This record gives sequence, C-alpha cells and structure tokens, in this order.
Amino acid sequence: MSIAPFTYRSRASLVDFGEGSIARVGDWLDRLGCKAAMILSTPQQADDANALAGRLGDRAVGVFTGATMHTPVVVTEKAVAEAGRLGADSVVSLGGGSTTGLGKAIALRTGLKQVVVPTTYAGSEVTDILGQTEGGKKTTIRDEKVVPEVVIYDPQLTLGLPVGMSVTSGLNAMAHAAEGLYASDRNPVTSLLALEGLRALKTALPAIVASPRDPDARGKALYGAWMCGIVLGSVAMALHHKLCHTLGGSFDTPHAETHAIMLPHTVHFNEQAVPDLLAPAAALFGGSAGGGLWDFAKSIGAPLALGDLGLAEHDLDSAAEMATANPYENPRAIDRSSIRDLLQRAWEGARPEA
Ligand code: NAD
Repeated sequence: MSIAPFTYRSRASLVDFGEGSIARVGDWLDRLGCKAAMILSTPQQADDANALAGRLGDRAVGVFTGATMHTPVVVTEKAVAEAGRLGADSVVSLGGGSTTGLGKAIALRTGLKQVVVPTTYAGSEVTDILGQTEGGKKTTIRDEKVVPEVVIYDPQLTLGLPVGMSVTSGLNAMAHAAEGLYASDRNPVTSLLALEGLRALKTALPAIVASPRDPDARGKALYGAWMCGIVLGSVAMALHHKLCHTLGGSFDTPHAETHAIMLPHTVHFNEQAVPDLLAPAAALFGGSAGGGLWDFAKSIGAPLALGDLGLAEHDLDSAAEMATANPYENPRAIDRSSIRDLLQRAWEGARPEA
C-alpha cells in the first residue's frame, strides 16, 4: 500500500480524561498560572456552575450563566465586561458547545486562558472553530487563539444528559468523523481517529439508550466525541456541515437534531462518489454507510425527519438554493436539483436508499 502525501499538525491542548477528573479543575488552573477564573454555563446548568465555583474556592472570582446557542456577540460582550469587572485571568466553560463557544469568543477578544469541561458530545472544545451571531447572521472563523488550553472530560457529568440529547449530540459527533473520512486534507491520523470515534459511538449510544447512567457507556461516548472533535478541528468539512449550517442559520433548526437527521443523507450522497473512502464506515454499519447510518439512527430513536423540526416543505427550495449558491469543496459535485432531492428525503424521514 502506498501512502499518499499529507500534512499533519497536532494541537497543544491538554486533555484530562476520566471519572472524577472535574476535581482537578483547580490543579489545572494552578498549572496554567491562573488565579482568578470566571465560570461559564447556560442558565440551565447554573447550579452545576455555582457548585464548581464553590469547589474552586478563591480561584473562582465569579459565575456567568448567560451562555446560549449560536454565541451571540451581545452575550459575549456582556461576558467580557463581567470578566473585566471581576479581574478574571481565565474562564472555565462547563457545558455543551454553546458554553464552549462563549469561552472561545471571550478568549478571542481577551486572550484569557480556557479550561473546558464538556458535558455533551459536540466536540467544540478541541477545535479552532468559532461560530458567532450578530444581527441575525452567523459567521464562522478558524483561529488558534480560540483553542482551549485544557479540556477535562469527566463522564460523570454526562450521566444526566437526557437520552434524546445524548443520541443527537452523539450523531453530531459522528458527522465530524464521517466527513473526516473523505476530507480533501485528511491524513492517516485523522482517518484513524475518525474510525475509532465512529466505532466508540456506535457501541456507546445504544448502550446509553438502554441504560442512560451506565458509566462505561458514558465514558466510551465521551472518548468517541473527543476523537470526532479532533477530526472536526483538523480537516475541512464538506456538504454535511454546509447543509446543516444553512438549515440552522436560515431556518433556525436545532443544531444537534439537524446533524442527526442529515447525516445518513449527506453520507449516502457522497458515498456514490467515494465508496472506497467510506468503506470502513460502510463495514461498520452493515454494508452501506448512508443506509447503515440511517438504520443505526432509527434503532436508537433519533429524529429522522426535517419536517418534525418545524421546517416547511416549501422552505426546501430556498434551502437548496442557498446551500448551492457558492461553490465549496465536496467529494461529489453538487447541483441544486440533487440537493433538493436529498433534502426532500430528509424532510420526509425516508431512508436515503431504498
Ligand atoms: P448546547 O451546548 O446548546 O446544550 C444544549 C442544552 O443542553 C443547554 O441547555 C445545556 O445547558 C444543556 N446541557 C448540556 N449538557 C448537559 C448535561 N450533561 N445534562 C443536562 N443538560 C445539559 O448544545 P451542543 O449541541 O453541545 O452545542 C451546540 C452549539 O455548539 C451550536 O451553537 C454549535 O454551532 C456549536 N458547536 C461548535 C463547534 C465548534 O467547533 N466551534 C462544534 C460543535 C458544535
């Protein structure tokens, strides 16, 4: 087998993984030389953020619980002002992609160090990607300044992640890996990580559905999410992420659910062009990557139809238009009519292949 030429770069983030690792947030702040952390969370996770602040004692100078979806710049500006008022030298982001996004947006503007404690499988904590919303428009940047210094994965914190969210968030992670397998700038390391991430989540998600508080399944899911996150942060995403961005940005469909529904359809679409690159995923999911992923998603009770997210059928025309207006990299050529067909099947909740 010949090895195709590639470029590979790893990131300097430190990962502390394991049961009870949340107890080491303070140690990691000390090692970073941080003495004044502001704890971040959504309003829904305010109790957990306050408890963490209590545990950190003097190292925590305040708690900001205003994190919300799509990282609105107005919220970031409030948080930056609060960090200044408190004299914070770091942030500890406790939560999912929304909270991590706020921490990254603060770091971009202030250079404050970040410790992230993820409680979903979104993967943002290990990427250089930041999406922000201003005036109803979401823009995404890639910048090393937003990469968190320390990531603490404690499966214990995910035991209470509701099963429905676990399923959609897990499929969101799997989407990073699936697109990583055919990314134009993939390399042997990202391909290995992508496959291992898919494998881990394929085992973990059904186990979580059967037994939501199973610590082994939760650990395996978080481990898989980490790998999928590294893939997202290392290589270029394509059709799947573009379509989900369009649907979320223009029609306000919820992030993880949109990814969960679209994944089998976008993978099936690209599988027609690069079956060899998706063959490992096809083998994992029973013969075909797209159809197999749809069967898997159905078996764990994932949402299957865009129509169920409140998207109207007539919106599919403009969604297809927007998603194909500007060219972007994808292993299969994209045209408006095939994307409209793909969206129709996803809207109906049909299997991507008969
Ligand atoms: P989220 O962070 O919005 O969380 C959804 C809800 O679940 C919130 O109310 C949150 O407080 C709650 N929650 C989180 N963990 C919980 C737990 N363990 N138990 C109970 N409730 C919990 O959802 P998400 O899907 O993690 O993140 C979505 C956001 O992240 C989107 O804005 C997306 O664009 C962004 N994202 C960014 C990247 C990146 O690399 N920049 C990657 C993935 C996602």
